Amino acid sequence: MESASGLVKASAGLSWLGRLGGAVLDQLYPPLCLNCDAPVAAPDALCGDCFRKLRPITAPYCPVLGLPFEVDLGRDARSAEAIADPPPFGRARSAVVYDEVARRLVSRLKYSDRPELARFCARLMAAAGSELWVGDPVLVPVPLHRTRLLSRRYNQSTELARALGRLVGLRVEPGLIVRTRRTPQQVGLSASARQRNVAGAFTVRPGAAAKLAGRRVVIVDDVVTTGSTVKAVTHALNRAHIADVDVISFARVVTGASLSQ
Ligand SMILES: [Zn+2]
Repeated sequence: MESASGLVKASAGLSWLGRLGGAVLDQLYPPLCLNCDAPVAAPDALCGDCFRKLRPITAPYCPVLGLPFEVDLGRDARSAEAIADPPPFGRARSAVVYDEVARRLVSRLKYSDRPELARFCARLMAAAGSELWVGDPVLVPVPLHRTRLLSRRYNQSTELARALGRLVGLRVEPGLIVRTRRTPQQVGLSASARQRNVAGAFTVRPGAAAKLAGRRVVIVDDVVTTGSTVKAVTHALNRAHIADVDVISFARVVTGASLSQ
C-alpha cells in the first residue's frame, strides 16, 4: 500500500513538474506562428493575419476532384476536369488552396523536421476529408524514393498521415507502397510530362496487399498539383487489387478560379 501511495505521490509530483516545465518553456520560448514566427497564444497555430490569408476549400466543390466551384451547380455537378479525364480514384479532398501561406507551410514542412506543422495541417485535413473517414479506411502516404528519404530523413506525407491518423483514429500504413524509380522533381513540368514522369514509379510491397484485402485506402499527400502522382499511386493499388481508393491532401493547386472574390 505504501509503495502504491508513494507512486501516486511521485506521479502527481511529476505532472506538477511537467506543468511547471511547460510554463517555464512558454516563458522562454513563447509559441510562434507556424508561418511568420509572430508570437501566438497557443502552440501549433497560425497568427490571425496568416490564418485569414489561408483559403479553405469548402462546398460547393466537384464531388470527384474536390476543386472549388464559384457557384453552386447542384449536388452531382462535376468539374470539367473530372468529366474530361475521370481519375482512377473515387474522391479527392484538400483542406486549402495552394497559395502564398499554404506554399510556405508546405515548404517548411518538407525541408525541416517540424512535427507541429504536420499537426496543424492534419487538423484542417481531418475536417476537409470528414466524409472519407467513414468505414475505417487505411491511410497510405505517398512515399519518397529511398535515396531522397535518406538525404532528407523526413517524408512530409508520412508525417501528415501519422498526425491525421491520430486525430481521426485510423490506421496508417507508411510501408505499403514503394517508390521504385527515383523520378525527377515535378516542379516546372507540364501536366502530360508529370504523368509520364511518375507513371509506373510506384508499386505495392509484395505481400502487403493481402493485409488490406477488402479495405478502402485513402492516399495522403501534402500538395496535389495536376494529380499525376496520386493517380500513379492509385494505379499501383489497383494492380494489387485494392480497388477502392480516395485521396486527401493539405493543399490543392487551383488554376483559373477566382473563388469567392
Ligand atoms: Zn503569422
